[in-house]
Amino acid sequence: MKDEVLYQGARWALVAREDHSRAGRSRRREVVVHPGSVVLLPLLDDGRVVLIRNERVSVGRALIELAAGTMAPNEPPLACAQRELIEETGYEARSVEPLLSFFIGPGVSDERMHAFVARGLTAVGQKLEDDERIVPFACAWDECLAMVRDGRIEDSKSIAVLLYWATYGGLRR
Ligand SMILES: [Mg+2]
Repeated sequence: MKDEVLYQGARWALVAREDHSRAGRSRRREVVVHPGSVVLLPLLDDGRVVLIRNERVSVGRALIELAAGTMAPNEPPLACAQRELIEETGYEARSVEPLLSFFIGPGVSDERMHAFVARGLTAVGQKLEDDERIVPFACAWDECLAMVRDGRIEDSKSIAVLLYWATYGGLRR
């Protein structure tokens, strides 16, 4: 497997990767080689979830999401999760525990996303990066799940993690 770098971005690279068709012909696929990322499920003591309204350049409007971010070079997932939680939601957590990890879009990229649940939250203030336009808000579980159900939450990682926690987590009803 040989990669040719077509474009080296600030955080990921677009490469052409050699592959073989079922008939054995060699062909090139374009792949985004990604350092990996994290997503957070921040739970307030009253059980509400901290979501964000995230102005997305890619889709041209704001999406309702869970806080998330890309790992810096050599940054462990847990450290990245703790950093992104503060930056995007303005909360610091007493505990940040791993939940699951998954490939976010394997048709395009090798990006593996690590999900964490954050509890024991204290407000310390957002530290947004220059290019981020993010507004956090607290949301009751019933409303989170209603937004997944009726399509107001359109972000795949947020849908996956909310439903995962609702199904397997410690959610009390
Ligand atoms: Mg960020």
